[in-house]
Amino acid sequence: MRETLTDRQGRPLKRISLQKRVELRRLYMAEMPGWRRPLVGYLFTIPIVGIGLVALFLERSFLSNLYFPSTFLLVTTLLIALFWGVGPALFSVVLGTISLYYIYISPFMLSSIPGTQEILQLLPYIIAGLVVAIITAQRETARYHALFAEEVANEHADELARANFELEQANKLKDQFLSMASHELKTPITSIRGQAQLALRRIAKQREVSSDISTAYTSLEKIEQQTRRLDALVEDLLDLSSIQAGKIPLQMSKCDLVEICRAVVEEQRLLSGRTISLEIPPEIVKIRADANRLSQVITNLVSNALKYSPDDKPISVRLSQDDDNITIAVEDEGSGIDREEQEHIFEPFYRASHARNSSKNGMGLGLAICKDIVERHGGSIWCDSHPGKGSSFFVRLPQD
Ligand code: ADP
Repeated sequence: MRETLTDRQGRPLKRISLQKRVELRRLYMAEMPGWRRPLVGYLFTIPIVGIGLVALFLERSFLSNLYFPSTFLLVTTLLIALFWGVGPALFSVVLGTISLYYIYISPFMLSSIPGTQEILQLLPYIIAGLVVAIITAQRETARYHALFAEEVANEHADELARANFELEQANKLKDQFLSMASHELKTPITSIRGQAQLALRRIAKQREVSSDISTAYTSLEKIEQQTRRLDALVEDLLDLSSIQAGKIPLQMSKCDLVEICRAVVEEQRLLSGRTISLEIPPEIVKIRADANRLSQVITNLVSNALKYSPDDKPISVRLSQDDDNITIAVEDEGSGIDREEQEHIFEPFYRASHARNSSKNGMGLGLAICKDIVERHGGSIWCDSHPGKGSSFFVRLPQD
């Protein structure tokens, strides 16, 4: 059975077909300067071997004992292999062998057939020449493999670029769809909510209310509640698509973070009736920011803390500053979030498993919006959470 070659990760390696090899060789040759083409190499081999022989004769006339005559010819083979590759290198070995035989063994080579003695004399030179040729061949094969790998990588890069482009298009379409759908939903929701509120106010004004009207009142209240939720969701969707598209310019002004935190905490205390402690520095904490957007971030973190922790557990909001940064921490003693899931909670539409499996409503957009807002202020947002013990969310903003 033919074994499939695999790489270090166990993925099957592609074999280079003969046709591909020819193609790669053509490519390899095309990249070479003209003087390094093999044909030029064969032509150059004759004078270079000649120069080797001249050097050999000169050395022979200067030194009384020349112990390694084939060295000169080996150097020429090495040079030829280096510049012109395996073919011309082999050719130089053949020329060298003939020359050595002619010079040292029998000047009348054509008339005599070499015996074992002569062959043994020439063998070291022939073997050394062949080794040079083999090493050169291996070097060439390695170059083909590198070229092949480069081609495969380029093909994959093209495929990836295409897939990336398609994904980007699909993502744009999704954003467009979300943005259009949210806009279209916003008007009827506002109208239903308005009508429900109007009817509720009218009924509330009546002195005497029949049981039918009382039932209608309860239903209208539910409609109002649910449309308020829907409104908030649509608002989040619109916010996300506009923030991501960079369509919402931040209204930057000098604002006091102590004041923003205090306002958010008071509002959330009133709405939830829960204990929310607030720890703030004694002095005002000035920052250039979009006050409404920062208030939205803190509101989101506090309402999440309320949503994902039991009613009898307190929430705390702490504001602190050092020379460079201002940090806002929102802590709860709720369900907490698994470590692996913590990495994803700032992604749009991501909800951790405890939230998905609970009756808590949400679309997983709040934190993604917070992240965008905080980052557009040059800050960072992160979470430190321990399942079963609670979560702490931190927002760090630069002082300037
Ligand atoms: P939503 O609350 O609408 O699901 P968010 O973007 O506000 O979306 O939050 C994303 C997810 O992060 C939530 O679904 C929840 O799993 C997790 N999460 C956020 N805040 C807390 C928290 N204080 N405690 C536990 N989990 C939280």
